[in-house]
Amino acid sequence: MPLAGRALRRQQKIAEWEKRVQELHKKYPRLAEISQLIAQISMETVLLGMGKGKMGMSWEELNKAREALLAEKKGLFNQYNLPSNIDEVWWDCEKCEDRGFLGVGEKCTCLLQKEREEHFKLSGLAPEQKEQTFNTFSLKWYEDQERYREILKQCIEFADKVCAGEKTENLFLCGPVGTGKTHLCSAIANYVLQAGLDVVYLKIGTMLDLIRECKYNFEKNEKLSTEQLQNLYRVSLLIIDDLGTEVSTDFVREQLFYLFDERINYRLPWVISTNLSPNEIGTMYEDRLSDRIIGTSRVLKFTGTSIRQLKITRG
Ligand SMILES: [Zn+2]
Repeated sequence: MPLAGRALRRQQKIAEWEKRVQELHKKYPRLAEISQLIAQISMETVLLGMGKGKMGMSWEELNKAREALLAEKKGLFNQYNLPSNIDEVWWDCEKCEDRGFLGVGEKCTCLLQKEREEHFKLSGLAPEQKEQTFNTFSLKWYEDQERYREILKQCIEFADKVCAGEKTENLFLCGPVGTGKTHLCSAIANYVLQAGLDVVYLKIGTMLDLIRECKYNFEKNEKLSTEQLQNLYRVSLLIIDDLGTEVSTDFVREQLFYLFDERINYRLPWVISTNLSPNEIGTMYEDRLSDRIIGTSRVLKFTGTSIRQLKITRG
């Protein structure tokens, strides 16, 4: 939520609280009196501190009177069956009173959580992909467990570096369908999202549709188009699934080249998942594009029997 929205919501909460207290005091006049007396005592305490007390009461007496009033209030709340916090502002987050920040620049956990949820929504990940994490990636489905242990390690190292903002090679995950590439892509995405960074995860077809739409609609909706393209070019981590399944036209090659070039210039990492081998990518695209795809990446080869098949046969 933008800061303006947050400030507005705080004001609404405070207005709602004032209204609630007014009604409460109207209905139960003694509660209004108590509230007034407590305010007077608070004022007297301040005055006493400056040596200007008017009531002729000591600190101790003032404190006692205050305690007695609070106890009476509590008793009345009980008697009238009122919630104990009825005369307080009902913040969503008590810790930061819905400010989102605890100090200058220090984000509250509620804001971090909101940002994570927002990032997840914008990431393009399907809800079921939320469950695909490093922890739920099981080696037992693989015959060559050593290889997959190493692949898993490389993916975690990559995700750690992305989260830390360190320079890293990109990842190129290649191999047949059903060998766990998508699971690991999702796991990387979830890991990076959890750290509070933004991620975009798209199938190549969807991504190209988006680029096309932005280019063609540019004049109609310049702002939206620019924002969407910027998001693709500048997101902390871009994950492209199924590279190589697109129809490779001049437009597509041009756009991919531009995209990767932009991200290289801004030192922003990406992950590519594909059924094609690095050689096949080399054949499919001209050198300057395949150099950017393969030359900047660590290649992780997925092989072996499809785990979908194994899950069916082994149960
Ligand atoms: Zn908070």
